Amino acid sequence: MRDEKPLTDEAEKVAAQTVWKKCLDIIRDNINPQSFKTWFEPIVPLKLVDEEITIQVPSQFFYEWIEENYYTLLKRTIIDVIGRDAKLTYSVVVQQSPVEPVTVRLPQQPTEPPAVREIKTSRVALDFYKSNVHRYESYLNPKYVFDSFIKGDCNALAFAAAKSIAETPGKNTFNPLVLYGGVGLGKTHLAQAIGNAVRARQKAEMILYVSCEKFTLDFVNAIQTNRRSEFSAFYRNVDLLIIDDIQFFADKEKTQEEVFHIFNTLHQANKQIVLTCDRPIKELRGMEERLLSRFAWGLSADLQPPDYETRLAILQKKMEDNGASLPRDVIEFIATNVVSNIRELEGCLIKLMATASLHGCEIDLTLAKTVLKDIIRDRTVNITLEMIEKVVCDYYKLSPNDLKGKSRKQELALARQIAMFLGKTLTHSSFKTIGLHFGGRDHSTVIHAVNTIEKGQNESPEIRKDVEELKKRLEILAL
Ligand code: ADP
Ligand code: MG
Repeated sequence: MRDEKPLTDEAEKVAAQTVWKKCLDIIRDNINPQSFKTWFEPIVPLKLVDEEITIQVPSQFFYEWIEENYYTLLKRTIIDVIGRDAKLTYSVVVQQSPVEPVTVRLPQQPTEPPAVREIKTSRVALDFYKSNVHRYESYLNPKYVFDSFIKGDCNALAFAAAKSIAETPGKNTFNPLVLYGGVGLGKTHLAQAIGNAVRARQKAEMILYVSCEKFTLDFVNAIQTNRRSEFSAFYRNVDLLIIDDIQFFADKEKTQEEVFHIFNTLHQANKQIVLTCDRPIKELRGMEERLLSRFAWGLSADLQPPDYETRLAILQKKMEDNGASLPRDVIEFIATNVVSNIRELEGCLIKLMATASLHGCEIDLTLAKTVLKDIIRDRTVNITLEMIEKVVCDYYKLSPNDLKGKSRKQELALARQIAMFLGKTLTHSSFKTIGLHFGGRDHSTVIHAVNTIEKGQNESPEIRKDVEELKKRLEILAL
């Protein structure tokens, strides 16, 4: 790879554009549309000299990714289009962000003349920051760094993109970066690792990690105390904004509107945005379309449950970090049996170490089997109807009164039936007890609910997904 100066010769540029367009036509037919959009659309053809084409890519990571994943396809395509001696040169050009101060327009007050007041963001934001500083101090957990994150096939793209962003926050095509995946798979860890790395390398001044709930609470609070414009200004002044679990923005219209404006300001100013979500953006419900379309602008990278090798590596690493050393067969036993997520893996390790130190005994396979019996064989042992009620209410965003009440609204009825179904399958409660717990209902209602959901799981992928997710959450809660 060579670094090239921006081209000067118009003819070479036009030639490059023509040739590159033909290449793209071939490439487009050979890879999926999302990959094409992510990796090929941002490329700019710079010049064609003899049989050497120079293309501009937005970052070092970008170049490496293309070389690693699309080398053969690119080589074949370029030879097809240009000829046997074709050569490809990359030019890595990282775009600079504008340095102009961001301004914010305050909403008009009814008592004021209809002029728009313009103020510098920084001063107002600073005031807000000062009065809230105690709440923004400890937002990054120093434990969540790249070094303690194990890379595997299950998280390769997410990990690579996160590292790349930490190198060049805001100055890459991954804006926003959306990390998505199920519970306990490392979204928060990775998102915070970006923040910690950027902070350590002083690549950005103001880094803010905030959970969706905290953002929402602060926003509501700002409105109630007449400080909305300060809140907005504060967020618009951030250089790296990480918002965790954006699925919780669902149905919160005012908050979404605020996020939309903050997003626009930051994005335009080339400030980096990192979001995490428990599902792909396109599966989010209760969100404004314009917000969703912006969330899809950058790169979405998923985190999958870890495979066996990755589970082993994670256990090994956690053991080292805890200064413990477990026999190989114990580690293998846990890695074989705990498959769904990483928080659970950790939970097993901690429980085992705690028991061993409590009883002053060595950790061996027999101890592991005894201690982890509940978790591994029958994780449902600790699940109660109260836990089911809580998890179902959280998941569907209902109050216990909704769940137990008389309303026959479809979504309430479904949540209620799923709760009863889980009650029957995950606890040893009788139909009668379950009926009483969920709003004093008759045992025949419970039987009907169980049958409905059993059937529903086969017929509706959505019901199946909900039930699986709820079971997973309950198992974790019961650890
Ligand atoms: P999520 O936000 O996706 O629910 P977390 O980021 O909270 O998950 O991860 C749960 C736990 O698992 C954390 O303690 C985290 O450090 C750990 N963890 C997750 N993924 C990895 C990984 N790849 N390597 C090491 N630890 C991990
Ligand atoms: Mg999380």
